Amino acid sequence: MRASDTEVLTPGSAAQAVEAFGDGRGITVFAGGTILMPEIAAGRYPRGGRTLMLDRAGLDQLDQLGGDGTVAIGAMVPLSKLAGSRIEPLAAAAREVGDLEIRAQATIGGNLCAPPAAESPRGDLQAALLAMGARVRSAGKAGERTESVEDFLARSEDETRLVLAIEVDKPRRASYLSLRRPHAHSYAAMTVACAQNDGNGGVRVAAGGVAPRAKRLHGVERALAEGASGEDAAARALDEVDPQDDALASAWYRRNVLPTLITRALEQLQGG
Ligand SMILES: Cc1cc2nc3c(=O)[nH]c(=O)nc-3n(C[C@H](O)[C@H](O)[C@H](O)COP(=O)(O)OP(=O)(O)OC[C@H]3O[C@@H](n4cnc5c(N)ncnc54)[C@H](O)[C@@H]3O)c2cc1C
Repeated sequence: MRASDTEVLTPGSAAQAVEAFGDGRGITVFAGGTILMPEIAAGRYPRGGRTLMLDRAGLDQLDQLGGDGTVAIGAMVPLSKLAGSRIEPLAAAAREVGDLEIRAQATIGGNLCAPPAAESPRGDLQAALLAMGARVRSAGKAGERTESVEDFLARSEDETRLVLAIEVDKPRRASYLSLRRPHAHSYAAMTVACAQNDGNGGVRVAAGGVAPRAKRLHGVERALAEGASGEDAAARALDEVDPQDDALASAWYRRNVLPTLITRALEQLQGG
C-alpha cells in the first residue's frame, strides 16, 4: 500500500476520534495493528478510504470506578497490561494471546472488533468479556451508546462502531480454559470462560471458537441455576452452538471436547 492510498487521521483526544469517525463510513480504525499490519503486507488493506490511528487518542487508561470493583478499560489498553491486571477471567485470556511482543501491541478494542477469520484465532478475549457481563461504550451512527457486550457482538456486520471503553465488574469467582493447537504461537481452537458476581446472580458461561464470534451459553447457565451438575449443564452447550471446521480443529473434535472443557472450567471456578 502506498501512503497516498489512504488519508491518515491522528486524533489527540477521544472527542476528536469520535468526530473523525463520524458514522464510520469509509474509515478503518487502526489500534495496535497486529491484525491490520499483516493485511497491509498481504495487499488486502482497504484503499482510498481514511485510516483513524488511535494511539494518541488517550484511550489507554484502566480506571477503577468507585470502590465496588467496577473497572473501565480504554479500548487502547494493551493485552500485556490486562495480563497483569488480576481482572479475571480477562487477565487469564489475555495472558494466553500470542507472545510477549503481540500482547504489548495488541489492544482490547482490536480483540473485541477483530473480524472473524477461519484460519487464525483473533477474538480470544470475547468469551471472558461475555462471561463477565461487560458493557461496551462506542460511538458511530446515531451517536454514543453503551450496551452489553453480547448485544455489541450480535450487531450486524455492516454496522461499524468506534469502541471507546469496556466496563466490567470484577467477579467473585472466575475461571478460564482453552483448548490449544500447538503451533509457533499455540493458537486457541476453543476457549471457555465462567464468572459469578457478588449478590444472587448465577454463573455466566461463554465460549469462543464455536461460532464466528464468542457466544454466551444461556442454556448451560439455566441448567446450572436449576441445580444440574456441571457435567449435565455442560452437555446443553451443543443445543445452542454448532461448531464448524477450520484450520485449527474439526467441527467433530470441537463438539466432542466442548462439554468437557466447560465441565472443567466450572470445576475450576475460583474465588470467595
Ligand atoms: C502472531 C500473532 C498471534 C496472534 N495470536 C492471537 C491469539 O492467540 N488470540 C487472539 O485472540 N488473537 C491473536 N492474534 C490477533 C490479534 O493480535 C488480537 O486479536 C489483537 O487483540 C488485535 O488488536 P489490535 O489492537 O492489534 O487490532 P488492530 O489490528 O489494530 O485492529 C483489528 C480490527 O479491529 C478494529 N478495531 C481496532 N480497534 C478498534 C476500536 N477501538 N473500535 C472499533 N474497531 C476497532 C480494526 O479496524 C480492525 O478491523 C494474533 C496475531 C498475531 C499477528
